[in-house]
Amino acid sequence: MLSRKKIILDLTKEELAELIKPSFRAKQIYSWVYHKYAESFEEMKNLPKEMREKLDEAYTLTPLKTVMVQNSKDGSRKYLFELHDGHTVESVLLLMRDKEYHEDGSVKHQERYTVCISSQVGCKVGCAFCLTAKGGFMRNLTAGEIVEQVRLIKKDNDIDANRRVNIVYMGMGEPLDNLAEVVKSVKIFSDPEGMAIATHRQTISTSGLSTKIERLGKMELGINLAISLHAVDDELRQQLMPINKAYNIASIIAAVKNFPVNDRKRVMFEYLVIKDVNDDISAAKKLLSLLDGIKAKVNLIYFNPYGGTEFKRPSDADMKEFQEFLTKRGLHCTIRESKGLDISAACGQLREQKLEGGIDA
Ligand code: SAH
Ligand code: SF4
Repeated sequence: MLSRKKIILDLTKEELAELIKPSFRAKQIYSWVYHKYAESFEEMKNLPKEMREKLDEAYTLTPLKTVMVQNSKDGSRKYLFELHDGHTVESVLLLMRDKEYHEDGSVKHQERYTVCISSQVGCKVGCAFCLTAKGGFMRNLTAGEIVEQVRLIKKDNDIDANRRVNIVYMGMGEPLDNLAEVVKSVKIFSDPEGMAIATHRQTISTSGLSTKIERLGKMELGINLAISLHAVDDELRQQLMPINKAYNIASIIAAVKNFPVNDRKRVMFEYLVIKDVNDDISAAKKLLSLLDGIKAKVNLIYFNPYGGTEFKRPSDADMKEFQEFLTKRGLHCTIRESKGLDISAACGQLREQKLEGGIDA
């Protein structure tokens, strides 16, 4: 059973420095936590023994327990983590075959790491196609529970503290429905003395809570935005995503137009393609006009079927046709590689299998 003590990873370095004097101790703790992946205060040998004991009485360093890992043929790994109250969330380590180079042109790394993380247990938004929605909403994750997903995955895969990783808030939950903790986690991730994951390497994906998009934009964090659009007219979007009643397409587009976008970046519009539902070329045409005047890129996602769903995966040919229609007209459009499809990559699926007892832990 995991400890119910307070979570030290919930604290920003500034909060830690307030709490522990002298304040340089905060930097030392940050280094143990985020560079050496410490699992106990006992390990922190450059802290006075008494301080280590006091910290241990009040705080835990391990808010998550790994209950299951699934490996995909493409090298992606999916994790199921248990929280102190027994709830579970999923995260995925994705390997992108994308070389990084040294300044002299030699190859530094063969691939990039991206970690897809969860922000809530379940989700209130209730999208018709989403497995996470089926289990309802349980609770928000704290900043530390969000941060720990990345720390554990880096540790488990021997990813050096200096090695760059990207973060996408595309796991379970609606990040903007847990805005305060998500923003705090963004700040903890980006702390130069912690994991130092620059905000331009972090992407928040949202079902389109327009007022929260506006609020996030005003914070000027430098974070990337992804919008789960999935439909181009309100009637269909409402059927797929009931939240569209509260925040319709026009309100989302207006909020995106106000969002501060890094010069070298674009707002990503995710479009989940479902066979015979939203895959016709007239939708692509409408998408083009909807995104006119926005620095946008479109990411087409194959619907990933699961037991009991009425929706179907589109054909490769239809995906290609949809993509080509857009790219020929100057809109950046990629098809999301079905990373880890063989390990049921669409989030919520591993947890569901576990709950149904379909897989042995
Ligand atoms: N709640 C946020 C982030 C988490 S969902 C959001 O909706 O943007 C991350 C992405 O997974 C969303 O774009 C969502 O539409 C997609 N998704 C959900 N169910 C899926 C499925 N069965 N197959 C493929 N993608 C799915
Ligand atoms: Fe929630 Fe995103 Fe799933 Fe919709 S797609 S139910 S917003 S997690």
